[in-house]
Amino acid sequence: MFSPSAAAGGVVSARLARLTGRLDGIGDALGFPAACDVDWSPLAEIFTRGLLNNLGDPFVDGLYPFHTKDVERDAIGIIADLFHAPADDRWGYVAGNASEAALYGLDLAARLHPNAVVLHSAAAHPAISKAARLARLRSVVLRTDPRGELDYDDFADQVAARRDRPIVVVANAGSTFSEAVDDVRRITTILDELAVPSERRLVLVDAALSGIPLATLDPTERPGFDFADGADCIFVSGHKFLATPMPCAAVIVRASLRARAPVVSYTGAPDATISTSRNGHAALAVWYALTIFGRDGLTARAVNARDLAAHLHTALGEQGWPAWRNPHAMTVTLATPPHDIRGRWGLADHGGRSHIVCAPGVTRDRVTTFLAELADHTPTPEPGRVNGQAVNVNGRRVPRQLRPSAPAAVGGDHR
Ligand SMILES: *Cc1c(COP(=O)(O)O)cnc(C)c1O
Repeated sequence: MFSPSAAAGGVVSARLARLTGRLDGIGDALGFPAACDVDWSPLAEIFTRGLLNNLGDPFVDGLYPFHTKDVERDAIGIIADLFHAPADDRWGYVAGNASEAALYGLDLAARLHPNAVVLHSAAAHPAISKAARLARLRSVVLRTDPRGELDYDDFADQVAARRDRPIVVVANAGSTFSEAVDDVRRITTILDELAVPSERRLVLVDAALSGIPLATLDPTERPGFDFADGADCIFVSGHKFLATPMPCAAVIVRASLRARAPVVSYTGAPDATISTSRNGHAALAVWYALTIFGRDGLTARAVNARDLAAHLHTALGEQGWPAWRNPHAMTVTLATPPHDIRGRWGLADHGGRSHIVCAPGVTRDRVTTFLAELADHTPTPEPGRVNGQAVNVNGRRVPRQLRPSAPAAVGGDHR
């Protein structure tokens, strides 16, 4: 093993002490969807051994022996079950992040349908239009309702106008700003009604934020977002609800679609993934989180997160602070707090609205402290504007003819 010189060792320990000090000094953030309720120390020994590289296809071990593909396959199986992927028609892998997973989905779309048009809503994460651009596919941005859910009439109109083209839809299962969920059952029905054949369509679901919590809902309440509802490919982040200590995401796809777009092999395992060398620690972390929680633990964490968000929403209402929350969301959207409060709690400002994510690890005490700080202030008078420009719930500029006469997006209660 290499051992550093005394001088280098001194530089490193001083720098690490400074870094640790900065990280320790970070206050309580509320604006990010990153859960932080897992103790990762049981993985310390394996995390410090050295390289773990899951090269290419996780379902072929390949030549390089230091990998975690065996646990990766288990992790993919657990998530595929949660998303009702057909037992005999599923494949997936742990990608570097949800952006890579989106690129996987849209690259598959481009290989299957080079002439496809990609439809996604204005509430889609910027990673979606970026992935469409990288895959050289044209994308069309669709309207949403005031709470960030796809406008199905606009969707139907845009599909009807492109009957000659293969249609690729990217639905949100938990939009970044408001955790809006696009109804994949309705999307599938519209594609059926407009006679878009299954060979000329692909439905991708960006479930980066909410895929796991939505999957834990009772079937009577669960929105339509998974394979049973018509999805062909779903991706979900590891570093959001699952709290993994590095960015990562799982992508699950119908294996039969992949088979129609074959890939080459050169590392002893097919190069079936966007990144060839892949993080074996990340795959292990996803499996570890899923396994220590189990389905009951995942459900309990989702229930707690939603309960805390419901409490925050109610308390904001009682304080006269405009706020709303989508069904099943752990995110509360509120009129943007004053600048200093925003800075202290790490809250973004899109169009006079901010959001608080009650991700697992956010405590009721933290929410109580935030509410107490906010109690001394009054909300900004005009949510829905940035620098004098009207913006929608997604923080985008609103075309003049679509502007509501009154700001409709920040209301008082549940839908
Ligand atoms: C976070 C997020 C992404 C992007 O994920 P990365 O892992 O940061 O690349 C995409 N979509 C949604 C809905 C997200 O919340």
